[in-house]
Amino acid sequence: MITVLFSGDAAKRPLYDPALREAAEKAGLAMQLHLDPEAVQPEEVDYLVYDGNGPVQDFAPYTGLRAVLNLWAGVEAVMRCNPRPDLPVARMIEPGLTEGMRDYVIGHVLRHHLDIDQYIGADPITEWELTFPPLSRNRTVGILGLGALGADCGAHLAHLGFQVLGWARSQKEIPEVTCFSGANGLSELISRAEILVLLLPHTEETARLLNAERIAALPEGACIVNAGRGALIDHEALLEALNRGHIRHATMDVFDVEPLPADHPYWAHPRVTVTPHIASVTRPETASEAIVANILRDQSGEPMLGIVRRTLGY
Ligand code: NAP
Repeated sequence: MITVLFSGDAAKRPLYDPALREAAEKAGLAMQLHLDPEAVQPEEVDYLVYDGNGPVQDFAPYTGLRAVLNLWAGVEAVMRCNPRPDLPVARMIEPGLTEGMRDYVIGHVLRHHLDIDQYIGADPITEWELTFPPLSRNRTVGILGLGALGADCGAHLAHLGFQVLGWARSQKEIPEVTCFSGANGLSELISRAEILVLLLPHTEETARLLNAERIAALPEGACIVNAGRGALIDHEALLEALNRGHIRHATMDVFDVEPLPADHPYWAHPRVTVTPHIASVTRPETASEAIVANILRDQSGEPMLGIVRRTLGY
């Protein structure tokens, strides 16, 4: 029997309680589940399910832990709690999170591709005039980050007909997606991406990766969709590029400070769409299955999925 502590916030506990029990039963995992850290001796916990908003923010007393399973794909918060270099931390990879991001990215890419705003915005076109809407095969979409989320978005955008370019640390092979790595690959992608999607993690290397120089190197009239992290972008440079029209629109889901402060220029900017970090969320049913499957992998001596590489920061 293994002991699992779900350290989620109060709203998540009633959702994950049945979902984790059902997933464990289905998978044949004998599990004692706790949802209240006060109700279990820390040293008895084998696996801790971590939530950035949950009650456990210090892993030091949990001396018997085999691993921490993060409820989120982003790992900045969980890595701050983990003083032990030998304690594995798995980031969340689950189909609900991946599908949600796919929907968000495809929705916003199609909006910018078709320039839907000119028909539904504050000042819609009122003339009945034949125009030729653009075709996806003539549109280049660049994706920075080809991990669990970026690779899936890239494959599905390519399936819709877009010319998809992707960039990651390591060279990838994704059918119908032209994959790049390294500094030259980044420059090539940036110079061609009419719609740029950011799905990178926030690390020392990716902070302000989209700086003034790279924003200027994007094609005239490019759009940006940032669903990765706010820190990926130099926001002053982006505002300047939006104001002079070099960037047509930016859809922003993530910010340096969240919630985005009420006086931030993005809120009222006509070329910016703000969404409140809702691009995708972890879904209790599918996430519980992924958590249980990862615990079973560990129990049977297989490597867990999504283990964070501490030196890389993701
Ligand atoms: P992931 O599987 O860890 O993928 C990260 C990708 O970024 C990988 O392709 C990685 O390259 C690449 N990368 C990292 N550092 C790089 C660097 N210095 N240069 C080039 N490429 C680099 O992460 P994921 O699950 O796809 O999630 C990506 C991010 O999305 C998360 O970290 C989180 O910040 C964000 N997110 C946002 C929301 C939201 O609602 N807005 C929801 C979930 C996640 P390799 O493949 O070579 O390692």
